[in-house]
Amino acid sequence: MSERVYQKCININCSATFSVAEPLFACRSCGDLLDVQYDWEHLEVPGNLGWFEQRWSTRHEPLDWSGVWRFRELLPFCSTRDCVTVGEGQTILQRNDHVAEYTDSAPGSVYLQYEGMNPSGSFKDNGMTAATSHAKMVGAENVACASTGNTSASIALYAHACDLGCTVFIGSGRIAYGKLSQALDYGAKTIQIKGDFDDCMRQVQDVCRKENIYLVNSLNPFRLEGQKTIMYRVLEALRWQSPDWIVVPGGNLGNSSAFGKAFLELKHLGLIDKVPRLAIINAKGANTLYELYENQGIRFNGGDVEVGKVNQYYQELDDSGYRPDTVATAIEISRPVNLKKCLRALEICNGVVRDVSDEDIVEAKSVVGRFGIGCEPASGASVAGLKLLREQGIIGSNEMAVCILTGHQLKDPNCTVNYHIEQDGRFSNSPIEVDNDIDAIIKAIKS
Ligand SMILES: *Cc1c(COP(=O)(O)O)cnc(C)c1O
Ligand SMILES: [Zn+2]
Repeated sequence: MSERVYQKCININCSATFSVAEPLFACRSCGDLLDVQYDWEHLEVPGNLGWFEQRWSTRHEPLDWSGVWRFRELLPFCSTRDCVTVGEGQTILQRNDHVAEYTDSAPGSVYLQYEGMNPSGSFKDNGMTAATSHAKMVGAENVACASTGNTSASIALYAHACDLGCTVFIGSGRIAYGKLSQALDYGAKTIQIKGDFDDCMRQVQDVCRKENIYLVNSLNPFRLEGQKTIMYRVLEALRWQSPDWIVVPGGNLGNSSAFGKAFLELKHLGLIDKVPRLAIINAKGANTLYELYENQGIRFNGGDVEVGKVNQYYQELDDSGYRPDTVATAIEISRPVNLKKCLRALEICNGVVRDVSDEDIVEAKSVVGRFGIGCEPASGASVAGLKLLREQGIIGSNEMAVCILTGHQLKDPNCTVNYHIEQDGRFSNSPIEVDNDIDAIIKAIKS
């Protein structure tokens, strides 16, 4: 299998390749990001996506039940013997006409992909099942990550499921309690660094290099292989038809990168006709991608990214003492590690990037709560982004848009309760205080 599957540096001036047996998280020659690449011509790939439906009847098999591994022919980097699964990817694609109305879209054109249904409550499980499988495959004993919360919750769950030692690095700033409670409950060694996420990200890489620990941040190319399956499940729910748009929040940009790779490969394999367009939504308080892509015109350029301009932008952020700041803590990231891969995804999918305010994020989140299954703040960014792109006429009223709801409603209850108690939101639903008296209670119910 080894030469049919390999890791390849995405820097076109380097293009070094490495065996998948090597646990790397950066190119050993130039330090750039690595991709998992397949020699598809010599691998067995189904001739059409409907082929995967046969697995619905064998779902008593854990790997056929998994919403990631039942597509294993499309991420064939490890043998089934190494696959780790806890039953991830049982997600729902919900048509939601109320959200359509909120975003001024035609009925039947807006769908919500509920990734909060995953075992640890966020899409990260799609990636962790793949990363821990690779960790097992290469014989790793310890894993680590930096996290705004969900990555640590997810790896803590997968690490104990397959007996890996687990350390997570969190910043001293905001971390939603739902997420922190999971990491602690699942038994991860939790290191709180006096700094923000970007500081944690730098430290964890150095520590992993020094101590030979397996890194599971989205720098890890195997994690992104698992996240491709979110798109396969969207296609599956749409009877293998591509929607017009995928709308996704952007933080470290692993998800958007994985989606672009998924569509590139499906197109290459002749398994889809149409590649959807991609809309990546930043929070205004952490809008590096928006600034670089929409305002500074940074493009993938076939791999020839203007790195100088990007570094200059980061230097300016540092010089001005900038710290990202948004209620959507899962995307409170100013130096997205997957920037280059994400630019590639934007090229593949003819993408756009937008940024939305915290007010818009929280309101969109409350609409998803009121009419859908609920989501955490970062996920609300995708609905807020769709609304904005409808206002701008970029997305047509009849175009089919799938908003990715990346995390569960209960991840960040403080944000939700504050919105409802403060009463000034359009959908605020605050508790009504009454005296301990039946007449007062009935009066309140009827009011
Ligand atoms: C991690 C995360 C994001 C950001 O995804 P990236 O792949 O880092 O861009 C968005 N929403 C939630 C809920 C997350 O946990
Ligand atoms: Zn390289």
